[in-house]
Amino acid sequence: MKYFLFLNHPKGKDVYQLTKKREFLLREHFKHIKTLSMNLNINGQNYNCIIDYTAFSNLSNFDCFNCQDPCCADNPTIYNSNTRDFILDNLVLYNSLTKNIDILQENGYSFDDILNSIQNDNSMVPEKTVEEEISLCTCSFKPNNKSTLCALHSMCLEKKLSSEDIIRIKPLVCNLWPLEIIAEDDMSLLYITLPDDFTTGFTIEDYYDTPCINKELVSSATFRRKNPEGFSEKNYVPFIVAYKETLIKIFGNKFFNSIKNLLISEELIFESDFDDIKEQIFKKL
Ligand code: SF4
Ligand code: SF4
Repeated sequence: MKYFLFLNHPKGKDVYQLTKKREFLLREHFKHIKTLSMNLNINGQNYNCIIDYTAFSNLSNFDCFNCQDPCCADNPTIYNSNTRDFILDNLVLYNSLTKNIDILQENGYSFDDILNSIQNDNSMVPEKTVEEEISLCTCSFKPNNKSTLCALHSMCLEKKLSSEDIIRIKPLVCNLWPLEIIAEDDMSLLYITLPDDFTTGFTIEDYYDTPCINKELVSSATFRRKNPEGFSEKNYVPFIVAYKETLIKIFGNKFFNSIKNLLISEELIFESDFDDIKEQIFKKL
């Protein structure tokens, strides 16, 4: 089995291949839970999917502006042309956030080398500078000495682009993070879930270390020693509420409404949960 969202990871199979143990745990999990089956079109391809829908009621609080555990530590994908073209069209803004062009010039690269790299290199910077001179993900930036954010997303918001544009420009894995999609080797079936107490043995992200999806963690003294501000417990909302726009734009209204209606009928969420929520995709510093 493969981590579907990491199939284009620059480190390839080492990242996207599940171990046999993880595969076993996933199969056991999906044998014992309530699921929803649906055909989904993802990036123009149709897939049969089995959805761990109750996970969409899990509480989340994506307080990235106060996060000390940035999840943008490395490049999550070999970037596609949408991302590359957007950066090439907005070089000044890109450099003002990331400093990448200045850094590469300080290290002896010409402007032409830099443009060539944005167009052709896996991580849009010369390979030997990845996670070295260009620390963390190429597209990350630090607005202050605390948090690390996505320059692509911030540039889109700065330019007042639509949610469709944000989704087109940011890598799919980043738009959906921390949603987990695992594929059979022959891609005949996708399993969709979220990292939580039950799935942690096979998801790629570590639920126990991730404050935005683990409300219990933020009440621990260990977490508060490192992260005294933010992640207010009252700001946790069901994942389907925080990611409503993203889920609709990527998977469609049928996907969103089917899950929402099931969760409401099982009283795992309430219609009122959707009142007055600023959705994650539109949050600005
Ligand atoms: S770990 Fe969660 S809160 Fe922190 S930066 Fe990543 S998505 Fe945001
Ligand atoms: S969200 Fe942006 S900065 Fe973070 S890993 Fe994805 S592309 Fe990089």
